[in-house]
Amino acid sequence: MINTMPRAQDSAAMLARLRKRNDVCLMFVDNAFVEAADGATRTLLNPASAEPVAVVAEGGAADANAAIAAARRAFDEGPWGEMPAQDRARLLFRLADKIEEHADELTRMETLNNGKPLRETGYDVADAAGCFRYYAGLATKPQGQTYDVPAPSQSLTVREPIGVCGQIIPWNYPLLMAVWKLAPALAAGNTCVLKPSELTPLTALRLAQFIEELEFPAGVVNIVTGPGATVGATIAESHLVDKVAFTGGTMTGRSIMRAATGNLKKISLELGGKSPNVVFEDADFATAVDYALFAIYANAGQVCSAGSRLLLQESLHDRFVGALVERAKKIRVGDGFDPQTEMGPLISKAHAEKVEKYIATGRDEGAHLACGGHRLEGELGQRGNFIVPTIFTQTTPQMKVVQEEIFGPVLVVQTFKDESDAIRLANDTIYGLAGGVFTNDVAKGHRVLRKLRAGITWLNTYHPTYNEAPWGGYEQSGIGRELGTYGYEAYTEVKQINVNLAVEPSGWFSG
Ligand code: NAD
Repeated sequence: MINTMPRAQDSAAMLARLRKRNDVCLMFVDNAFVEAADGATRTLLNPASAEPVAVVAEGGAADANAAIAAARRAFDEGPWGEMPAQDRARLLFRLADKIEEHADELTRMETLNNGKPLRETGYDVADAAGCFRYYAGLATKPQGQTYDVPAPSQSLTVREPIGVCGQIIPWNYPLLMAVWKLAPALAAGNTCVLKPSELTPLTALRLAQFIEELEFPAGVVNIVTGPGATVGATIAESHLVDKVAFTGGTMTGRSIMRAATGNLKKISLELGGKSPNVVFEDADFATAVDYALFAIYANAGQVCSAGSRLLLQESLHDRFVGALVERAKKIRVGDGFDPQTEMGPLISKAHAEKVEKYIATGRDEGAHLACGGHRLEGELGQRGNFIVPTIFTQTTPQMKVVQEEIFGPVLVVQTFKDESDAIRLANDTIYGLAGGVFTNDVAKGHRVLRKLRAGITWLNTYHPTYNEAPWGGYEQSGIGRELGTYGYEAYTEVKQINVNLAVEPSGWFSG
């Protein structure tokens, strides 16, 4: 049980095992821990206290190019692609074991860097181990198909790795996003250049140490720390990269898609959302209230699939909002290391300011602030990036706070008359990532889920995510799917093989 608040000196102890030079945490290129080519560094801050927690090498274009070259060599000349799937799987299983062996350390490191409560980072770490195990298992399962084509041919398909995969991830699930990217790519035999968010690289760098200890071949996994504009853009543009997989904001996704056109690299985009959570009057009231809170306030709303729009059937509105506000006010906001904490800080000062701006916009637009709308009071609130659970009612569909992703603890409530009204409102944004429906009428629940233009849907629950099941969005929430067999296939090319079973001339031409 982890139940102590970190004192300043604990941070250093927590990070003691990261590979460092002159106290700078190093990035991982070609199985070596290295500084940035130009020696640049970045100081990471604890989101709960604004205190420095670590200094990390701040890579640039040169470092990204060195990592891409290493991954290219490893793919073209190294043993990885030729290695039997069983051997790749064995390494991935051992990586999962390492994560579990160091679960306590990784959990604390993630909370220190990202701020989210320990109980959330604990789940993330367990999920990360599970994800490696799932894909390690999948690596050895049947892959291709055979076709009954006219004699004398035999036609079949095999799946092959795509090549060098550039992988760019955000800060909201630093370790888990790294693993969602690396696990399927490696299982399928690709080599990787992973760029963590510049704000939260620590657990990915610890993962790099496990990879080094397990003696993965050089260049198979490279982890380059640094900003999106240089490291990320270099990965997206490079003609030596065969695929770019990105998780992050929709605007950034657009620029990555443009950059990827140079060599028509394959792309997977997991982008933003403004997901509806629809509650009908026949829903189990207590369950729907409970999940409405979880849908928006888990990870302080910094979740791509957050249920950030609550759609309530008109007759339910006043009673539901009353119960929701009462419970939202009781959510214990605080330092992620405090075992009492139920909701942590936002990732950075800049992000908290962006969320505050949205709250001001909601007021200006005429929405009613039913609760919250301000920073956490007291000393903790003055130091860290805390915004308390916030709910807007009396919204209209055109409002910015209803249409745009806020990515913070801000819920907007909308009302609907009937089933078709609910579906129309639920689909009325540019996004299509996720959606929930609460009703005791199972047939109605299914009907509405089928009409949602969204990639991930839940009936009478919200947020459960499984390594086995596909994750991704419709419309401007992305392209492609991660996780499950879909996520594995997205890291493979399909090759058609045709074999002539009667080796003799065809006689097509007479001469
Ligand atoms: P972001 O788009 O600002 O950054 C994501 C990553 O892209 C970071 O590593 C960043 O350095 C890099 N980047 C930034 N500009 C780049 C560029 N021009 N070229 C290449 N890389 C660049 O997003 P964020 O603020 O880190 O994360 C929040 C966003 O991520 C939200 O919109 C959220 O919805 C989305 N998200 C989506 C999913 C999903 O599965 N759909 C999951 C988590 C987060």
